[in-house]
Formats: sequence, C-alpha cells, structure tokens
Amino acid sequence: MNTKKKIRILAPATIANLVCGFDILGLAINHPQDEMYLEVSNEPGLRITHTDRYNLPTEPAKNVAGAALLALMEEYGDAGLGFDLTINKIIKPGSGLGSSAASSAGAVVGANYLLNNHFSKMDLVRFAMNGEKVASGVKHADNITPCIYGGVTLIRSIFPLDIVSLSAPPMYVTVVHPQIEVKTSDARQILRKEVQLKDAIKQWGNIAGLVAGFLQNDYELIGRSLEDVIIEPIRSILIPGFDDVKKLCKEAGALGGGISGSGPSVFMLSKEETTARAVEQIMKSVYDKIGVDYHVHVTTLNTEGVWVKEV
Ligand code: ADP
Repeated sequence: MNTKKKIRILAPATIANLVCGFDILGLAINHPQDEMYLEVSNEPGLRITHTDRYNLPTEPAKNVAGAALLALMEEYGDAGLGFDLTINKIIKPGSGLGSSAASSAGAVVGANYLLNNHFSKMDLVRFAMNGEKVASGVKHADNITPCIYGGVTLIRSIFPLDIVSLSAPPMYVTVVHPQIEVKTSDARQILRKEVQLKDAIKQWGNIAGLVAGFLQNDYELIGRSLEDVIIEPIRSILIPGFDDVKKLCKEAGALGGGISGSGPSVFMLSKEETTARAVEQIMKSVYDKIGVDYHVHVTTLNTEGVWVKEV
C-alpha cells in the first residue's frame, strides 16, 4: 500500500429496475455524480467528514459509505489500517437515483485502489451491500453493481452473487426528479406479494427482450420491452404526473422508460439527443402544470463506473 496517496473519487448516479427488471437490472449515468476524497491515515480506523448540505451521519456504522468501508477493512484484516473520507454529496438522498449506492460503491472502489486492487469487483459489490443495508434495511445490489461496473448490469442471483455486465448501444437518458418524498420502505410495502402467471409470462418476455435488445443494439426491441405489468401499475400511484410523462414522452419518440429505482425520479431512454431534449421539455411542462418543483437532467449512459484519480 502506498501510504502517501490521496484520491478523488467520482461515483455515478444509477437507475435501478429498468422498468421490467425489478431488483435485477440497472444502469449507470454520467450525471449527476457524487464526489469524495479518500486518504490513507496513520491513525487506525475510519473518520468521515462532509462538505455538503445534507447532514448525513458521520459515525461510520451509520453512514452507508462507512458501513461499506468497515466491511472491506474487516476482511482486509490489518488492524493498523486507517482512512479519512470526505464526502461531497451531489446526488440527493432519497431521489431514487442511487445516492446511497454512489457513496458505498465509491468508497470501496477508492479504498481498493489505495490497497493496490487487493479485492475483485465482485468483492466490492459484497462490501458495498452493507451500505445499502444501512440505507434501506436490506442488502440489495441493483444500484451498486452498475455504479461499480458501469453500463448496464444484470444481477442473475444475489445470494450467491452472480453479476452479468451487458453491452448496450449508446443511449441518452432524461431523468426528472419531482421534489416529493417517496420512502423506499413505503414503495416496497405497497407491492403485492403474489404474481399471476399470465403477468409473470409477460414480464419475463419483456426482461428477456430488453436484455436481447441491449446485446443486439436493437433500439426498437429495447423500446418494446420497456414495459412493466407487475410493479409500475402499483408504484406509479405514488408519483404525480407519471402517466402523462410516460405517454407524452413516448409520443415524442422516446424508446420508453419508467420509475427510477423506487422513485420519485422518472427516466426515459432515447436514441437521439434531440429526442432526449424534447423529453426534457415535456417533463418540465408536466410538472409546471401540476405545480410540483423538479430537477431534470439530460445525460448519457456511463460505461466506466466509479472514477478514481490521485490528487
Ligand atoms: P437513494 O435511492 O437515492 O439511494 P435511499 O433512500 O436508498 O436513497 O438512501 C438514502 C438513505 O440513506 C437516507 O435515509 C440517508 O440518510 C441514508 N444515508 C446514510 N449515509 C448516506 C450517504 N453517505 N449517502 C446517501 N444516503 C445516506
């Protein structure tokens, strides 16, 4: 380990579920990204400071980045190991854009760089899942995985972890974040526990179609497969303007889209930048009309995952 190194970390926002792939599919986007600085310390243990306005916990076990790093440090097994982490949170917590995942994934990728890549990417996902447990009570990896691997990812199985990176054609992503609160726990609670066989058949047809569409660079197939007959009809009730956004954006030429993670952000994929910009205008007009504040981003697929540079 090079004890003199200090690094800057950029961790991308992520969109989990990708409409029909509840808990299994996700992708990373280029904007927004969280910023962090990580430094090896002579003092054993972990210290966290913030330079943002979010007042997130600084106690390592209560901060998702801390929980993820503590898991990595424990497995590394050197009692003398110490880190100082500074978090500048850009991705608003609770937006459905993987704010917590960016912290936990960014922290462990950064630490691994300082430890000369001692661990595999799969190990890093495992450590970062401890952070997601702090944020939402369950270990899930559908935001962490695209944040670490970049691009589009499939979690074929979570226990044991089985991760598949999917190639995908270039795409524009428009995301609107209506400034309302949707608690991840509420968004999970309202879901039905049973699924009808006819719905399951439709859903796995769409998931398979979406994966094939990504691998074959088939935009039409991607668009046709962005349909969710199980989760979206229930969850979208929590998001004002959802039906209008979806209908109008598809009419304007978007491939399709839906709820980002558990919401309230809503995303649309487009093949062309002009379409993504038209989608942005539609999203703005829908939320202007209903009088809900929002932020909109037009961005692209992030293919690199967490970015680390020595400073
Ligand atoms: P998102 O889907 O945007 O990640 P979550 O609701 O899953 O949002 O996670 C945010 C929750 O995690 C908040 O309750 C927040 O206080 C908590 N949290 C703790 N540490 C962090 C951190 N470093 N970054 C983001 N959220 C954190």
